[in-house]
Amino acid sequence: MPGSCSQLIAALVEVLGERGVLHRPEELMLYEYDGSSLDQALPQIVTVPATTDEVAAVVRITVAHGRPVVARGAGTGLSGGSVAESGGVVISLARMNTIIAIDPHNRTAVVQAGAVNLTLSEQAADYGLHFAPDPSSQRSCTIGGNAATNAGGPYCLKYGVMTNHVLAATVVLSDGSIAHLGSLAPDEPGYDLLGVMVGNEGTLGIITEVTVRLLPISEDVQTFLAIYDDLDQASASVSAIIAAGIIPTAMEMLAGRGIAAVEESVHAGYPADARAVLLIEIDGLREELKTWARLIVEICRRMGAREVQVANDPAQRARLWAGRKGALAACARIAPRYHIQDGVVPRSRLPEALRFTETVADRYDLTIVNIFHAGDGNLHPLLLFDLRTPGILERAVAASEEILRMCVDVGGTISGEHGIGIEKRAYLHWMFTADDLAAFRQLRTVFDPTGLLNPTKLIPLHESYAKTSFAQSVGQTTMLDRLM
Ligand SMILES: Cc1cc2nc3c(=O)[nH]c(=O)nc-3n(C[C@H](O)[C@H](O)[C@H](O)COP(=O)(O)OP(=O)(O)OC[C@H]3O[C@@H](n4cnc5c(N)ncnc54)[C@H](O)[C@@H]3O)c2cc1C
Repeated sequence: MPGSCSQLIAALVEVLGERGVLHRPEELMLYEYDGSSLDQALPQIVTVPATTDEVAAVVRITVAHGRPVVARGAGTGLSGGSVAESGGVVISLARMNTIIAIDPHNRTAVVQAGAVNLTLSEQAADYGLHFAPDPSSQRSCTIGGNAATNAGGPYCLKYGVMTNHVLAATVVLSDGSIAHLGSLAPDEPGYDLLGVMVGNEGTLGIITEVTVRLLPISEDVQTFLAIYDDLDQASASVSAIIAAGIIPTAMEMLAGRGIAAVEESVHAGYPADARAVLLIEIDGLREELKTWARLIVEICRRMGAREVQVANDPAQRARLWAGRKGALAACARIAPRYHIQDGVVPRSRLPEALRFTETVADRYDLTIVNIFHAGDGNLHPLLLFDLRTPGILERAVAASEEILRMCVDVGGTISGEHGIGIEKRAYLHWMFTADDLAAFRQLRTVFDPTGLLNPTKLIPLHESYAKTSFAQSVGQTTMLDRLM
């Protein structure tokens, strides 16, 4: 039986002080959402610890009171992962945001979990280094959140996702004990427990400190914008570039109405009448890039690009990237609410996957903008709508489900980087057998026998949650609605 909330608050205040424990309705409002915007639920308490020991104490106390514990980085997640769906205590890592050390000799950094992704690369630049995983949310998302979702980003085409960059982590387990996983030495013997912890979405432990790999900043970078009047030509260019033996750092595509919205908002130089734009970046040694650059321009033209722009200086490059990184926000010009999906298809199936998305948009009478990591086949259809339109949410949910199903049917997956969270847990059975899911649950129970760490997410222990996608959690009134 869960203990009383006031007793729990008192016990937490004893450890963190009044400032570290938020429980008034107006304080909790901010923690009702994540970036997915559709999943909403209020925690009972939000704690803001400053050290690993404080995190451990919060976990111990909360679990002793029988309440769920939900870790939260910056809340930019897009699958409802940090939303306290079954109430309980949110642990915000916001105060634990220090870059503890950068070691240029070993090319590593030790950071607290709440450190913001971009801050690490900014500080590492003093040593000629950078942190490769670069989610488009990198100005606000945290390294702990990145590790917990195994995040990717445009640069992950060449450099890999978080799991390829996390060397070690300090983790608080559900009994309040502190575990140190991984090491600086490669190929540590034994089971790869660090590998299991990366991508755990707060269900196995709370990550408080991470040691990551840093990479040298390349000698040269070149950025291109290929502009197309035909979507198939743009997606065929993606496969053709990789088939030519080039591994771009990034290959990002923006298609449809989103291009005009980005242009109006960011003035990145994307032609508003284009059907698709492909942002391509290569990095490496200056001489090598010259050959690749010629080849990329030639391939894009051969595939049908009407124009290929080449960024000649850092300002032009930053302008082209501002369009991509600001695309999600820019689409607020089209409609006030969005739901972004995160399916993956084999690269060669991109043309048909994009055509399918367009037919889904027509059938459900929805605006869908495609902004995505084309090089990885990682689609991000952005479904745009106004919640005041009757029945729009049901249509958006059904459309989104059809797109994800198509991804699985053509040999892809239901998530490339945003994680499963609330929104996709009901679709896991498309990819895994009942025995697979039972094995995942057993693993989960080994790390968290209490079942209280982010209990309803990823691989929920209770069948009732495993069957519900975000469709069932949307449409509740928000705290803001209730206060108004
Ligand atoms: C505009 C925009 C662009 C985006 N672009 C990308 C992209 O390119 N690539 C990409 O991968 N994602 C992207 N995302 C999604 C999101 O930013 C990532 O999933 C990011 O890794 C989440 O980090 P966060 O700190 O906000 O975590 P949160 O949203 O707070 O949490 C995410 C999940 O991780 C868990 N968690 C958080 N911190 C910890 C911790 N310390 N220990 C244990 N569990 C924890 C939470 O419980 C939750 O399940 C984007 C989001 C937005 C809004």
